[in-house]
Amino acid sequence: LVKPAEIFGAGRLNSRGFDLTDTRMLATIEAARDVEIPDAGPLVAGAVSGRSREVMNPAHRTVIARVVEADQACVEGAIAAAAPWQASPQERAEVLRRVADLYEANFGLFFAVLSREAGKTLNDCVGELREAVDFLRFYADEGARREDAARGIFTAISPWNFPLAIFTGQIAAALAAGNGVLAKPAEQTCLTAAIAVRLLHEAGVPVTALQLLPGDGKVGAMLTASDKVQGVAFTGSTETARIIRRAMSQSMDPGAPLIAETGGLNAMIVDSTALPEQAVRDIVASSFQSAGQRCSALRCLYLQEDIAPHMIEMIKGAMDELHVGDPWLLSTDVGPVIDEEARAGIADYIAEARREGRLLHELAAPEAGTFIAPTLLEVPGIEAMEREVFGPVLHVATFKGRDLHRVIGAINATGYGLTFGLHTRIDTRVQEVTEAIHAGNLYVNRNQIGAIVGSQPFGGEGLSGTGPKAGGPNYLDRFRAAPAPMTGE
Ligand code: GLU
Repeated sequence: LVKPAEIFGAGRLNSRGFDLTDTRMLATIEAARDVEIPDAGPLVAGAVSGRSREVMNPAHRTVIARVVEADQACVEGAIAAAAPWQASPQERAEVLRRVADLYEANFGLFFAVLSREAGKTLNDCVGELREAVDFLRFYADEGARREDAARGIFTAISPWNFPLAIFTGQIAAALAAGNGVLAKPAEQTCLTAAIAVRLLHEAGVPVTALQLLPGDGKVGAMLTASDKVQGVAFTGSTETARIIRRAMSQSMDPGAPLIAETGGLNAMIVDSTALPEQAVRDIVASSFQSAGQRCSALRCLYLQEDIAPHMIEMIKGAMDELHVGDPWLLSTDVGPVIDEEARAGIADYIAEARREGRLLHELAAPEAGTFIAPTLLEVPGIEAMEREVFGPVLHVATFKGRDLHRVIGAINATGYGLTFGLHTRIDTRVQEVTEAIHAGNLYVNRNQIGAIVGSQPFGGEGLSGTGPKAGGPNYLDRFRAAPAPMTGE
């Protein structure tokens, strides 16, 4: 059986230096257990006004802190005060690198807020902080490379599943190109966003160039329907991206970019030549790490028929080794899902699959808190999956070797195209399959999550996003003003 430590690398040295077995690191984490998370609210150049509410910890259902959600007057004041960042590309890059240093120095506080507010396991906290820091340094370097004209003001709307990394990535890209930013974090993760923005301001980003507006969809609607805004960066559902596109078409210049990263219905194909131990480790990590709350996560696994019974037994065995529980314990592999609404929706979905006799395996989940235990369901094929279930639920289908092209056709026919995984030891098959699949990120003989800034740019095709890929060399271009059209001669 595969042990959790081998699956999630607990105790392994992180790619850029966080070692969860380092005693100083452990002491800081230990001290962060009781650290108080500051209340949050709009961080704006204008006047602050809005309604205050409590923020709950999904694992313990206790109150963490309070957040003031911006009201209409507050949003209007912020929009009026917003201005591009007037500094040279090199000065901006210096400030963003300083932010990266401040993020690293405050890792204990970030781990505490990520774990308490978003239910992140310690291992996920490491990856998330690392990615945020990588985005800051990468976009700082990219921004410093060119003298450029900012477009003006960008609205950045970010998701709760990467409340620090994606939140920071959108903002850092827009700022590195010289824009001003109006940032609306996900409602569920405003505390994390506020800590980040305080550090961005402390490092030297002017308040007029970066304002934080916590709130619900109404705040997002105001920020995407203003003619003062020249572009929108968005990560979230495909449906919300459509609403934003419509709002932008009514208020903004037709050339205003929407840079959207949306949903996925990600598949992996494992053929009968794959190495079973390696495939199982990668399947389990792709499906259940971050409690399956990544848009890159594996949702539909296709196993070649002759290896399927054996592989399913191995997957069940590996699932049994997973620890579901308190995200602050080093031994925990799977924490809670984000909130009660998410928990109830996924639980109903699993209950229906159970009634239909499609439940292959599930673990026990802690009673308190918004936990969903890793679950394995049978499906005839990806075409039977109507929507992305954003949690630790893996669907498995089988295929006959001669039907490989039909399977590829069915995966492409979903219209999504974010990540795709392939396990095989046939070289020609790697080429054949990866050429035929429509997906932004293709992974061969490894897991399909955790793209790395700078070396694996991340983003999808079709219903999964507009491009360009985050963490890649073209991402900043969309935040820059288009070159002036050639005139005369
Ligand atoms: N970049 C992340 C990954 O590669 C996923 C981002 C997301 O879930 O939005 O796993």
